[in-house]
Amino acid sequence: MFLIGFLYADSIKNYKVIKKQIISKEQYYLAIREYKKSQKDYYLAVNINTLETKIIDKKITKDVKSIKDSTLNRVYKVSKIDKNSLTNAGINSAYKKHKDIYYITIDLCPSSKKGYEKRLFESLNKRENSIAIALSAKWAMRHQREFKEILEYKNIDITWINHTYNHYYYPRKKLKNNFLLAKWTDLYKEIIANEKFMLSHSLVPSVFIRFPGLVSDAKLVDKVVDSYSLVPLGSDTWIAKAQKIKDSSIILLHGNLNEKKGIKMFLKEYNKRELNFVKLTEMFKQ
Ligand SMILES: [Zn+2]
Repeated sequence: MFLIGFLYADSIKNYKVIKKQIISKEQYYLAIREYKKSQKDYYLAVNINTLETKIIDKKITKDVKSIKDSTLNRVYKVSKIDKNSLTNAGINSAYKKHKDIYYITIDLCPSSKKGYEKRLFESLNKRENSIAIALSAKWAMRHQREFKEILEYKNIDITWINHTYNHYYYPRKKLKNNFLLAKWTDLYKEIIANEKFMLSHSLVPSVFIRFPGLVSDAKLVDKVVDSYSLVPLGSDTWIAKAQKIKDSSIILLHGNLNEKKGIKMFLKEYNKRELNFVKLTEMFKQ
């Protein structure tokens, strides 16, 4: 898939970061990327009311005057509230709280471990669930069989969160100089190459980004929101840190075998309470 991934990626041309409001089939979107594929022009666009993303053929869109008052703009604002925090900045608890609703985010960060949390995915696949995966392309490229298997679960609907292309981590560096905060980080490549990887595998990137290590500073949050039109997503329920599942929890788990204890604790709770998970964008509904 490494090679094939590159061949497909080549077929995405003129990929550009843009910010333009458009209308398509009576729905308003913010187009955040544009590109060419097989001679056709496309937008990657975010619905300004629902925050769902979509790939839209440019031909069926019209430019419109920018609408300032939208759910999307309000979410961008809220996602900056904790921007000075070194960890877990962004939307770090549900935007709106609802009873008996739970969100699950599974990080696939690069790992030398072979395999993935198959037991977790098989359990989630036993009933219909919407989950979110924070994907680093590096993990997928080094775990091609596992990645393919994840894409084949029939009952699992996946929202794809950008977890950056390389997800660099430096064991000897302090957090404030680590992950994306390392001086030499090429933020453009980390974000854009990961998006292209998703698109080349027919996955639609969502509006969300999860910072590697959940580490960021104010400058990074501003840049990701203002320049890339993405929404940083944190978590309020990191199971491995013994945080309990409650209404509207944004659960964080690792699916790369780096968090055995968390998965065990989660599965116990999941089976006992017969939890069901919904799309992240449900939290923005009125
Ligand atoms: Zn990670």
